[in-house]
Amino acid sequence: MGRLMALALIERGHRIDLYEAQGADGQGAAAKVAAAMLAPLAESAITELNVVKMGQHSLKRWPQILGKLNQPVFFQQAGTVIVWHRSDAPEARRFQGHMQKTHDLLPTLSPAQMLDSVGIEALERELVPKFSSGLYLPHEGQLDNRELLTAMLHELEQAQARGQLTLHWHSAQELSSLEAWLHQKPKDEPWIIDCTGMGAKTHWSQLRGVRGEVLRLHAPDVHLSRPVRLIHPKYPIYIAPKENQVFVVGATEVESEDRSEVSVRSSLELMSAAYSVHPGFAEARVLEINTQLRPTLPDNLPQIQIGASKVIKINGLYRHGFLISPAVLDCALEWMDHQRTDLAQELGLSVIRS
Ligand SMILES: Cc1cc2nc3c(=O)[nH]c(=O)nc-3n(C[C@H](O)[C@H](O)[C@H](O)COP(=O)(O)OP(=O)(O)OC[C@H]3O[C@@H](n4cnc5c(N)ncnc54)[C@H](O)[C@@H]3O)c2cc1C
Repeated sequence: MGRLMALALIERGHRIDLYEAQGADGQGAAAKVAAAMLAPLAESAITELNVVKMGQHSLKRWPQILGKLNQPVFFQQAGTVIVWHRSDAPEARRFQGHMQKTHDLLPTLSPAQMLDSVGIEALERELVPKFSSGLYLPHEGQLDNRELLTAMLHELEQAQARGQLTLHWHSAQELSSLEAWLHQKPKDEPWIIDCTGMGAKTHWSQLRGVRGEVLRLHAPDVHLSRPVRLIHPKYPIYIAPKENQVFVVGATEVESEDRSEVSVRSSLELMSAAYSVHPGFAEARVLEINTQLRPTLPDNLPQIQIGASKVIKINGLYRHGFLISPAVLDCALEWMDHQRTDLAQELGLSVIRS
């Protein structure tokens, strides 16, 4: 969120100081670990309509944002395929019911399409004969989060070379100290924009971390061209293909702020579930097993808080940071321009004064 915001502000002619607690490589950010699926309809089974609306808005905005970057970032909007094992058909019907309700409320969202084995084969040949029924969500997307972080870093470094920005790595900031500094600068009136994710916990007490664990696999024997979700009562997973036969398999969702390494149980669950979707994962190589905390507010929804003078806090992106950040960005920019945002009202994004 911070990198997106910084680039947008540079484009508008602002001079920026960007402080990051960690280094330039994004270690320490949930954004580095995420699968970066852009799946408003699939996520509607577990989130609110406003997140779906923000996702719809953002899916249109990502190509514009990526088009301004000089380095390529993998992005596609080739849909999501959802499958389940025969015994989990009741769970699949429940999931489908959620998506149908979302579509009834938001008819502009393309509906889920039922797939038989012929339909599955046409989209993802290797899922047949294991799966004979599924769902296709045609307009969902995905991007490569790591390429995105690198491409944005490149733009930031270019801006620094042009004198528009100063990057401060390994420079954790306390909001209270920045606010105290702001009070001494009444004429200048710079903005402070806090996009520190879990780092904001010191001043945003309601924030909590929701632990997620993911695998990164290199699987030359697996050919999936779009994200595949497995509906399962205990081990629901997604498999998000990246370029060069790399797959992100995730993610657990644990109500815990434990940042320690991935447990054996979670690794087994993720690996077994991936193998149950495609036997080609048997010979995959484990590139990485990683864990991070999703910054989450009590209602699991994002929020923009407007503090005293020119302080804007953006947080609570939970498991939807990539899905919704362009929408959140547009609302924050509109607020900076007009001290109000109609877009946030339209999308149902909470903007409150703190
Ligand atoms: C396992 C997993 C899978 C996910 N999959 C998806 C997905 O498929 N689709 C999707 O849309 N979202 C997904 N997400 C969610 C997404 O990653 C987050 O919503 C998003 O990264 C939150 O963005 P953020 O900028 O608020 O926080 P972060 O990405 O965590 O970034 C916060 C940054 O602030 C820095 N910082 C912290 N404290 C300070 C301080 N005091 N001073 C300066 N800098 C500080 C941190 O070092 C970090 O770089 C996933 C998350 C996880 C963990």
